Order: sequence, then C-alpha cells, then structure tokens
Amino acid sequence: MVNRFTPISSGLSELGRNSGARAGHSETGTRVVESAQDRRLIRLASRPVNQVKSVGEKRAAALGEIGIETVLDLVTHYPRRYIDRSKRLPIAGLVVGEQATVVAIVSKVTTRRMRNHRTLVTVDFRDDTGGLRATFFNQAWRARQLSEGVEVVLAGKVDEYRGWLQMSNPVVNLIDAPGESKRTDRVIPIYPQSEKAGLTTWEIETAVREALRRMGELSDPIDSGFLDSHGLISRDEAIRKIHSPSEIHDWQSARRRLAFDELLRLQLVLMRRRRETEERLAGIAHRTEGRYVKALFSRLPFAPTKAQLQAVEDIVADMASESPMHRLLQGDVGSGKTVVALAALLTVVESGHQGAILVPTEVLAEQHFASISSLAEGLAVPDPSNLMGERSIGIELVTNKTTKVARARLTAAMRAGQVDIVIGTHALLSGQVEFPSLGLVVVDEQHRFGVDQRAALQEAGRATVEQGGQDEDERVPDLLVMTATPIPRTVAMTVFGDLDTSVLAEMPAGRKPVKTKWLPDDPSDAWARVTKEASVGRQAYVVCPLVSESEAIEAASVEAEAQRLAAGPLKGLTIAVVHGQMPSANKASSMESFRSGEADVLVSTTVIEVGIDVPNATVMVIEDAARFGIAQLHQLRGRVGRGAHQSWCYLTGGATTPDGVKRLEALVATTDGFELAERDLEIRGEGSVLGAEQSGFTNRSFKLAKLSSDRELVEIARKVASDLLDRDPGLAGHAELAEEIEVLLEPADADYLFKS
Ligand code: ADP
Ligand code: MG
Repeated sequence: MVNRFTPISSGLSELGRNSGARAGHSETGTRVVESAQDRRLIRLASRPVNQVKSVGEKRAAALGEIGIETVLDLVTHYPRRYIDRSKRLPIAGLVVGEQATVVAIVSKVTTRRMRNHRTLVTVDFRDDTGGLRATFFNQAWRARQLSEGVEVVLAGKVDEYRGWLQMSNPVVNLIDAPGESKRTDRVIPIYPQSEKAGLTTWEIETAVREALRRMGELSDPIDSGFLDSHGLISRDEAIRKIHSPSEIHDWQSARRRLAFDELLRLQLVLMRRRRETEERLAGIAHRTEGRYVKALFSRLPFAPTKAQLQAVEDIVADMASESPMHRLLQGDVGSGKTVVALAALLTVVESGHQGAILVPTEVLAEQHFASISSLAEGLAVPDPSNLMGERSIGIELVTNKTTKVARARLTAAMRAGQVDIVIGTHALLSGQVEFPSLGLVVVDEQHRFGVDQRAALQEAGRATVEQGGQDEDERVPDLLVMTATPIPRTVAMTVFGDLDTSVLAEMPAGRKPVKTKWLPDDPSDAWARVTKEASVGRQAYVVCPLVSESEAIEAASVEAEAQRLAAGPLKGLTIAVVHGQMPSANKASSMESFRSGEADVLVSTTVIEVGIDVPNATVMVIEDAARFGIAQLHQLRGRVGRGAHQSWCYLTGGATTPDGVKRLEALVATTDGFELAERDLEIRGEGSVLGAEQSGFTNRSFKLAKLSSDRELVEIARKVASDLLDRDPGLAGHAELAEEIEVLLEPADADYLFKS
C-alpha cells in the first residue's frame, strides 16, 4: 500500500481535539516542515490515543484499560487472528464434532435461571445458510453483549443437540455493533482483549485504520540492503499489512518483519553491552604450552570425546586473549563437563594464577573436590620456595562446614602461594578467601543459583581479583558458566546473547540410554528392579518429592519412606538416607557409604539432583514424579546411565493435570535433553521458561516474537545486529534504532536479561 507522504505530526495534530501533542506540533497549527524524524514510528509514542478522531473520551478510557494510551500503543496492538469473509464457512457446512469459526448475526437471545441459581444464556445465530445455537453458562452479561442484529465471529466445537447445531461457551468476537454499516472487506482482523474493555474489535480496527491513514509513510530504521538480503519487507508495509492484509496470508510477512524488529532490539542491546564490556575490561592473557592439559588427558581412564576436546580448545583460545572470557558450556547430564572445567583450571594454573569452582550445594562441592583431587593427583607445579623446585598441585575445599581454623590455614596457604584451585559453595564468596591472582571462575550447575546470586558471583569474582590482584591491577578473571539444563537454542541466544557458547552434544562412548518407565498405579516393578540390580552389585536412588515447604516435615517423610522400604519392598538391602536437615557430617558419611558401594540404595530428597557421580548406580526411582518439572526430572534421571551398564528410571504416581501427563510422557519418550527442553518450552510457554512468572519478557517488548517458534528470526536478528555494530559500533548512524532501543525495550525486560 503506497501512501501519500503525510507527516505524522501535522496529520494527527490537525485532527486532535486535544492539544496534548508535543513533538513536532507547531504553535500555530500550521504544517511543520516534513523531516525524516517525523516519519519515525517512535514519534507516535508522544501522541495520546484520543488524537485519533474516532476515539472519544469513552473509547480512550476503554482503550486505556487494555494498555493502549498512545497512538503507538494503538498501531502496535496487533490482531490475534483474521477472518476471511470471502471464504467464511457457512453454518450449513459445519461438521459436528469439529472446531470451527463462523461469522453470524444474532437473531434471538434468551436468559434462563436454572435450579442451581446459575444463569444460562442461549443465543441463536444465523447466516444465509442456516442457524446455530450457542449456550453460555453463568455469563449473564452475554445477554447485554449479544443483542439482536449484532454480527460476531464465533469459534468453538460444534455439537448437535435435539437437531440443532450448537456450540457451548464459544469464543466470541464482536465485529460490528448494531446499526453500523456492514463492511465489505474480505479479511477482517480480530483484535485481542477487545471484549474485556467493552470494545468491539471493529471499534479498535476503525481507530487503527484512521491512525494508519493519517500517519504517513513510516521511515525504516533498517538499511534496505539488510532487509532485502533476509527477505524482510519494509516496516511501513508490515505495519499496514498486519492490520489490514488484503490477502489472508499477507500477515505472515508482516508478522515476520515486526517480530524481527523486536528481536533485533534485544540482540543489539545484548551485543553492544558485551562489546563495551570487552573494551572496558582487561582480562588475563593465559598463554601456556598446554602441558598440564596434556598431562590431565594422558592420565584419564578414558579418551575425551571430540566435543570435550573442542570445548577445551575454544576455552583455551578464549583464555589466551586479552579480553575476559565469557563462555557458557552446555552439556547434558553425564556429558562430562567436569573434565572440561578441570582442563580450563589447569591452564590457569600453568600460567601462574589460581582458579575457583563455585557450586550450588555442599554435597556437590565435596563430590567435585574428591573427583578433581583424584584426576589431578600427582600433577607437579613449580615452587621456587621448595628445594625440589616443585610441589604437587594445591586443591582446597571451602563450604559452610569449613571451620575458622581451617579457613585461617587456607588463607595462610593462599598467601604463601601454595593453593592453585579452590572448590566451594557460596561460602567462597563471603570475602574471606583472598586469591593472590584469581584467573578463572567456573560456575557449575548455574541454573541452581538464583538470578541475583549469579550476578553476585560475577561481581564477587571481579571484586576478589581487584582486591587481591595488585600485579594484574583491574584485570577481571575469565568466566566459565556450566549448565546441564539444556537451553533451547533460541533461548540461549536470547537470554545469554552476550555469552559465547560451547556445547557438549556428544555423550561419552559406550553409554546406553536409560530406559524410562512410568508406573502411575503400581510401583512394584520399580522395587523388583532395585532388588534385582542390587543382587548383582549395582545401586539405586530413590527420590522422595518435596511434600511440604517445611524442611523438617520433609526430612521426616524421607526417613519414614526409608523405613517403609526397608521393612517392605526393599527388605534386606542396605539403605542410606540424605536430606537437607541432616548435620553435614552425617550427610557426608551417608554419601560416602553410597559412593563406596556399601549402601545399595540412597533414599533422598532432590539434594542428589545436582552433580552426583556414582557410575555403579543403575536405577533411579522418582516417587510422585508428576510433582517435578521436566528439567528436574531429566537432571534426576541423569544420575544413572553413567557407566557401561544398562540403567533404568521409574517414575511413579499418577498425574493430576494434563500438563503433568505431558511431562511424564515426554520423559518416557526421549532421553535427549535438548528435545526435552523444546518440549518443556512448548508445554509451559516462554514466560515461565525465562523465569519469574511474567517477567515482562513476553509482554510489552515482545508482542509478536516467540522463542518457541522464531528460531530462524533470532538467528537473523543476531547476524544483523553483529553486522550493524561492526559497521556502526555506537549506532551513531542509526539514530532511529538507538532511540527505539531506549523507548521500546522495556527496562524490566532488559534488566532481567542482564542478570541472567
Ligand atoms: P556432567 O556433565 O553431568 O557434570 P561429569 O563431568 O560428572 O558429567 O561426567 C559424568 C561421568 O562421565 C563421570 O563419571 C566422568 O568421569 C565420565 N566421563 C567424562 N568424560 C568421559 C569420556 N570422554 N569417556 C568416558 N567417560 C567420561
Ligand atoms: Mg557436573
């Protein structure tokens, strides 16, 4: 659609009964000089919606109720769907039992009170071909909404009742108010939320059309070269087509362009922030001969996978550079991230610095301490203070359990330069451990840290190096973030847009996929399996669900379950128990008895979710599994299947919600973490995947873009953002884009993402 070039400002202020207009509005009301700036979409943000002629006070108030206050809000209030009148389904063509959408006119409305005091509104509709009845339960207001002669779009399942075609509680959108002249357009946009505010979708459409007509041709913030090469239409065309497509399929190209804009703004912010950080902060250039990494690999009892080697190569290259590393290592549970982390740590040690691993739980810290100490055992590092000129590598553990005395000893050892790697929980962040020159912070299982904790970890790493690193003043440590929560690619590129990513997509050779069974009614197969495996020397986990918010109650229920199993289904087996309320020493000894093989079964809460590595364990029983989310179930299952033996996972208990059923079915269907993550995204929607309920991400800044289906667009946005910033780092030549980022990307969304 080609428009006469009418500047927004003059066009709308000409109409305005309200003089609230600011930008570009001349005192005298005469037309201002047409300038490119006036054609910016963003200018509409300073125009109150009542400047649109058809929007009087009442409509303005109703629009305000659904968040539409400015003309910009109005033209970015996009239709939810479209009805093609030329191809609409006649009532006579409806098929009983199927979902359908029809356009029809109200012919009769009756309201009845039923015996249980509920109201039943029955509405008869007709079109040229026949009649359809809709019933609404407990929606007395429908009688007011649907008066005779009103034209509506009805969507719902078609039933038959006493020879009548019927829909119960269909979705209704008003197209025209009674008395309005019927429109002849073929494609009608249906706007969301109109009903809630007492507006017909037609009223919204009228206002939108008027705004579009008067705003003139919009400028495009993106160079046409970029648009052409990615098959994107112009913004002006897109915004017109999304509201009034002439063909029903037009909206697709319109949506694609507008969703792209949303994603591009985000990518630009993330990327620009990252580039600035790189310029501002100097890292440590760890250049080594790779001797320690070679020594590590040569003593592993297995050959590293290709994926592990590649990840180590990426990391070593990052660490050799002057700018601080900022890398995310994703690898499904059991893919072998620990070895990769250790290789990174050893590189830092070889270049004369220290490294730290931060983990979310004490149990995991101890586990890492044990496995890293044994993998690095016997490695010698130079030590001029020693007669031999070297000593063995110094690895230390810091948790809340670490006593004051032990801490003092650690501090002394640190000062004396005897410590190379520190493994710890948050206790490590308490400021009491001073590194002479911290070169790398590894954050393991980062998803278990809260958003704020994660931010604190990075800050602490920075602060630690600043206070301690006199010789490397102001140099920030490299950062390696590891996660076993598979993050769908689009989410990774969006939420972690400022991180480089390495993926361990390949499992160590010889692993057999875990066989997963859901036992909704009778768990006895699970106990039979545990008993059978124990009889050939293997071990099993039993996870009890969180039964209450209270740790004490939960602990009691774990103890009770262990006793029940010992007395009944698992009689004769040695059972160890772990839960959050146990004193650390007991916890450690329970874990140790399981690790050493003394206990056949470990009954626990989800404390074992993270990181535990006992390759001899081959059965995982998750009780009342529907209570857990997909990611957590996948983590739990990942505790088995770590050795060469076939392993099993049993999910017990029924599911009370349809989503619960879907989750458990997904677990049974695949062991691929990435596939599960995609499935999870589908089931939950992106808001929840990104964290804190409706963290704003899906609301204002992202009206059209969908992480679950716009993977290709995210990639294009990333590419365009990167090319743009290469050419124009400060966006000085792209003022319109820069302004849109400021205004259109909600600060809450950006903040949320920055913390992630
Ligand atoms: P995660 O990625 O879940 O942290 P881990 O690092 O704990 O996985 O490794 C899981 C298990 O696989 C450990 O027992 C580890 O020693 C073993 N492992 C790691 N890499 C390999 C490999 N390349 N081949 C065989 N086993 C491996
Ligand atoms: Mg791990």
